[in-house]
Amino acid sequence: MIKLEKVGKIFKTQYIEVKALTDINLEVNKGEFVVVKGPSGCGKSTLLLTIGGMLKATTGNIIVNSNRIHKMDERQRAKFRAENIGFVFQMFHLVPYLNLVENVQLPAGTVRNKSLNKLTVIELLKRLHLTERAKHKPLEMSAGEIQRAAIARALIIQPKIILADEPTGNLDPENSVEVIKHLWEFKNDGGTVIMVTHGADADKFADRIVQLRNGTISK
Ligand code: ADP
Ligand code: MG
Repeated sequence: MIKLEKVGKIFKTQYIEVKALTDINLEVNKGEFVVVKGPSGCGKSTLLLTIGGMLKATTGNIIVNSNRIHKMDERQRAKFRAENIGFVFQMFHLVPYLNLVENVQLPAGTVRNKSLNKLTVIELLKRLHLTERAKHKPLEMSAGEIQRAAIARALIIQPKIILADEPTGNLDPENSVEVIKHLWEFKNDGGTVIMVTHGADADKFADRIVQLRNGTISK
């Protein structure tokens, strides 16, 4: 379960302070698929990165599967991420000189998790309809294939939560729906998904839609 209590995030640059998130209260249950929407700059990416422990909240509490991540230092958060979180981004930078199998395996190398062996790259590629691209490098793959590869790469560590930041932003409707369906399957297997998106493609898959405006959740 994910629980945010009065979470705030302020970016301090040399000259200005940006209040990216203010008093965010949010609970997301295991097995939920939550879609986050809102205008550009309203704090969607900051919210995902804060939940995933890539950014540290300035104020408030964030509890993810009993981990009090607002209290963790950078090293603890990195470990927490490796064990719990799969990230999918719009511009997923696969390593250009590695083939698909090598790209998908990358995060697995950083996690010592015995259960990893359960889900092999071969099975994952099959599930994401990428088997025929196994030896291809990113430049030899379509945008839809690259985004499915990004999902495979998030799934390889067998995360409990997937945080997806506009994962369908550069896809046509057909490929967009396919990517969303894979996230939905992950949710049906007991995973939790928080997905940021502009479009309406994910609406019918979502258990809940959260609207963000100016760093706060609007009802
Ligand atoms: P969204 O994903 O909804 O477009 P972001 O979460 O990226 O919005 O950004 C929210 C606000 O925080 C914006 O005003 C943005 O300029 C600011 N911001 C994001 N990251 C930083 C950063 N590292 N330093 C300073 N300001 C930032
Ligand atoms: Mg963003």
